[in-house]
Amino acid sequence: MAVQAEPMLVAGLIEVCRATIAENTDHLCALDRAIGDGDHGTNMRRGCEAVSAEGESLSSLPFPDAVEKIGLTLVMNVGGAAGPLYGTLLMEIGRELRKSDEKADFSQVLKQAIDAVARRGRAHAGDKTLLDVLYPVHAALAKRSPLGDIARKAERSADRTAAMKAMRGRAAYLGDRSIGHVDPGASSCALLTTAICRYLGEHRPQ
Ligand code: ADP
Ligand code: MG
Repeated sequence: MAVQAEPMLVAGLIEVCRATIAENTDHLCALDRAIGDGDHGTNMRRGCEAVSAEGESLSSLPFPDAVEKIGLTLVMNVGGAAGPLYGTLLMEIGRELRKSDEKADFSQVLKQAIDAVARRGRAHAGDKTLLDVLYPVHAALAKRSPLGDIARKAERSADRTAAMKAMRGRAAYLGDRSIGHVDPGASSCALLTTAICRYLGEHRPQ
């Protein structure tokens, strides 16, 4: 997928992400209650509402600047571990997009950003975090999978975190007792990926 964007895309993506997190706030909090402190849904909702509140000014920015600013807003508003991690992801995507030309492959941009999240969290694939959705999403994007397949891969990858033992974040304190539960950050990441893929499928041809 080439890196191009229309101004309306930003507003639309912000809204579908906000709506998805609002619909799933309780579910994400329940997942986090099982292996964390129960706030992942409310943390994410606070961040999405802060981004929505800035929606108009964000849509008037060039796409890379808008994405970077969304990341900064998430860092400042989400709280908890997820804020700096999702914030890093978006800030790095924005910065990498600014450096790349119009024909650059988005999967390469995403890879740089995911690696920055991994460095920030000192986490790896298999540690039972949102990275266990982000890396498979990148792999699907890199091989030009259709949007529907990317979304399904994200959902399956989130489900697979149930079998993993948490090595990072609050869930790591539980050790083996974290096994059997889906990671909340992986779940929010899959929900957002699915919402974004659906929106892009409806609003722009691949
Ligand atoms: P907190 O754990 O501070 O309450 P949240 O509940 O909002 O923050 O987010 C928890 C999620 O953040 C986890 O489910 C996991 O996916 C992700 N996470 C936590 N720590 C790390 C880390 N060091 N690296 C990558 N992801 C992490
Ligand atoms: Mg939490």
